[in-house]
Order: sequence, then structure tokens, then C-alpha cells
Amino acid sequence: MSEPSRPSPATPTRGASRTQPFHRGHTDDLMAFLSASPSPYHAVATAAERLEKAGFTQVDETDAWDASSGGKYVLRGGALIAWYVPEGAAPHTPFRIVGAHTDSPNLRVKPRPDTGAHGWRQVAVEVYGGPLLNSWLDRDLGLAGRLTLRDGTTRLVDVDRPLLRVPQLAIHLDRSVSTDGLKLDKQRHLQPVWGLGDDVRDGDLIAFLEQESGLTAGEVAGWDLMVHSVEPPAYLGRDRDLLAGPRMDNLLSVHAGTAALAAAAGRDLPCIPVLAAFDHEENGSQSDTGADGPLLGSVLERSVFARGGSLEDRARALAGSVCLSSDTGHAVHPNYAERHDPTHHPRANGGPILKVNVNNRYATDGSGRAVFAAACEKADVPLQTFVSNNSMPCGTTIGPITAARHGIRTVDIGVAILSMHSARELCGADDPYLLANALAAFLEG
Ligand code: ZN
Repeated sequence: MSEPSRPSPATPTRGASRTQPFHRGHTDDLMAFLSASPSPYHAVATAAERLEKAGFTQVDETDAWDASSGGKYVLRGGALIAWYVPEGAAPHTPFRIVGAHTDSPNLRVKPRPDTGAHGWRQVAVEVYGGPLLNSWLDRDLGLAGRLTLRDGTTRLVDVDRPLLRVPQLAIHLDRSVSTDGLKLDKQRHLQPVWGLGDDVRDGDLIAFLEQESGLTAGEVAGWDLMVHSVEPPAYLGRDRDLLAGPRMDNLLSVHAGTAALAAAAGRDLPCIPVLAAFDHEENGSQSDTGADGPLLGSVLERSVFARGGSLEDRARALAGSVCLSSDTGHAVHPNYAERHDPTHHPRANGGPILKVNVNNRYATDGSGRAVFAAACEKADVPLQTFVSNNSMPCGTTIGPITAARHGIRTVDIGVAILSMHSARELCGADDPYLLANALAAFLEG
């Protein structure tokens, strides 16, 4: 589909077509998904719950896999790979993959978290990924993540109420903030307070979480914990045509991919639709649950072998496969338009964006563009293009990693947002369902 030079920001009839399975209700559902997913571990649990409702069943990586058709998924830490095998799919049937990531930049709890000074209780945190640090100041923060118990099992924890806060320094104590801008030292200035008292003891925070989770004292042997804003997502604007919320980079894509895969299940398709939701994109993807690990390749290979395929079948399947790497991109910012390429100005509610970078920070090429344009055309959604201003360094995604690691043709796409990597991001309220419609059309093959 061609790019509209000036897409109407909120065409009332958009999404009302019978050919589009997802409408504004999808965005309502995204808000619930964001609230239920304060950590990557919660995000994959929330996605798995939705897939279960659509008939998918979890398979264990340590079991032998069988040749049965139907929806299946693997959970590993903060990553999820889900796929639907149509009835009678041959071993060399190609895959259509939607890739995304479950992690977002934030503040994460250090191994010895209990600290404090001058009568304040504090929690020691590390910076995860590249957050806009200022966006974490003066927000009411909850604490969520995964507890590992002594018996090796894990337990999700989510204290979703105002528990912590990183208090900003009063302007009276730093007049230069108005002239020189805010300067934050990552070690000294970001440690949240969570109460009062001088009797800080090692183990206080974990003992509190054990109590919150109904566990007995000393049961927790390990933890992966992070803070989140407790402010719920909200429609914003005169016409409520914007959506403000946390972690849209990149739970917006995980949610859309989950919905699109669930919609593909049960259909007679020429391909095997897959959702690959990885952890650790924000710090380079190199982990056993990241896109630069073996997880996706292992699942695809085992799926081929489980259906009686050979290495030749695996090679044939991968050669015919395509991956859409879906992530957020930059909408044109009204106050900083000069930072964008002058002829590429993605707009909120202008539809999904195709992300291009000739130096392979994005995996898109001309043939990939054609694949995504066809999906958008089939779904009747507009398509926009993002390319960086030549003077601005370009971000990257799991796209180039997936292409290089598995040799699968990959296209970088996504949704244009503002405030990327803020604790609270902003996008058009129509774009999440426009993306989901495009992904659904793509996954049909
Ligand atoms: Zn992202």
C-alpha cells in the first residue's frame, strides 16, 4: 500500500471494515495487557494465558516433541515462542514469524538491596538498558518480577501500589537545573526511598516480598526484580485518540503478535505462524532468552524434526520463511521535527511503520518491504516508512540479529511512538490495532 502523504489522524471508519479482526477494543485490551505485565516474566505469563484461551498448549523443552498439529508454546524465563501447526503441515512448511521483545528499560534491584541514609530507607537499584532517567523521578513506583525459591521453582510477584519513589532534588537546592539541564548520576541519584527508619537490615526487602507473596521467611533464594510506575495506561487528548502508558516499547508488539497468532489458530494455512517474544533486547539480546541465543532456532528445528523432517527439510523451511521484527519507532516530534529525516515523518495513527537503515541497523530491504506492504494492503491498513536523519545515530532491533543468526528473511516494522524509553510512552490509540491487523494478515501466509 502506498504511503499517504498526510494520513488523516483519526478517520472514524478506520478499522470498521469486516476484513479487519481488530478494532479499538484491541487497544482497550492492550491497556489491560500493559497493566498485567510489569516485568518480562509477567508479560510472557499474560501472553501464555491468552494463547491457552485460544487453544494453545505449553510444551516442555525437556520433553520429546510429537508430530501433532495445533497451537503450542515454550516459556523460558522472560521469553516465549508460540506457533501453530496446521493440520497436515509438511516438515518443510515455511514459518511466518512475528518477532518482538518483552523487556523495557527500567531500574532493577541489586543483589544487596537494603540501604538507606539519614533516616530514609532505600532500595539499591541498577539501570537496565537505556531509560530516560528523568522519567523515573517523582513517580509512584511498584515492584515486580520473579522470585526463585529454595526448591528451584519460581513465583511471580507484583506489588502494584505506591511503594517506592526516586525523589527529585528541589529546584531551590539546584538552581542550575533551569539553565544547564538536569544531570543525574546513575549511582547517587536514582536510589528510591521506600520508608523511614535507621535500622536498615540485610534481607528487609526480600522478607517484605516473602510476606506479600504468602511465603515463609527464608524461602526465597534468588530474585529478578524491577520497579514500575503504578499509574495505569490511559487514553489521552481532546478526542482520546492517543494512548499513554508504560512499556509500549515493546509490549505493544508482543500484545499485537499474541492476538494475531491466536486469530490464525485453527485456520488452514500454507505456513506455520510463529510468535517469538524475546527478553534482553534492551541490553543486546545475548542471553539464553534473547534473540541472539539459540531459543528460536531450537524451537523451529525441533518443530521440523517432530514432524518427521530432516536437515534438508529444515533448510527448505527456513529458506522459505519470513520474520517481521516488530518494535516501536519514532513518530515525528512536533517540538523537534528537525531531528527527523525531512521526507519521512511517521505520524501517530498513520498506521504501522516500515523501518529502514541501509547499514543494517534494521533488517529491511526492498523485498522485505514488498512482503509487509502486501500484508498491509491485504489488511487494508496504511503503511508509513521510517528512516533516520543521516546525522542521528540509528537504534536497532532484534531484526538484524534474527536475520543473521537464522538466515531468515527479516523485515523491521512497528508502531511510531513518542517518548521512547520513558517510564510512560505515548502513541496513537488506533495504531495498536492497525498493527495487529497487519500482523494477522502476514501470519496467514
Ligand atoms: Zn524496543
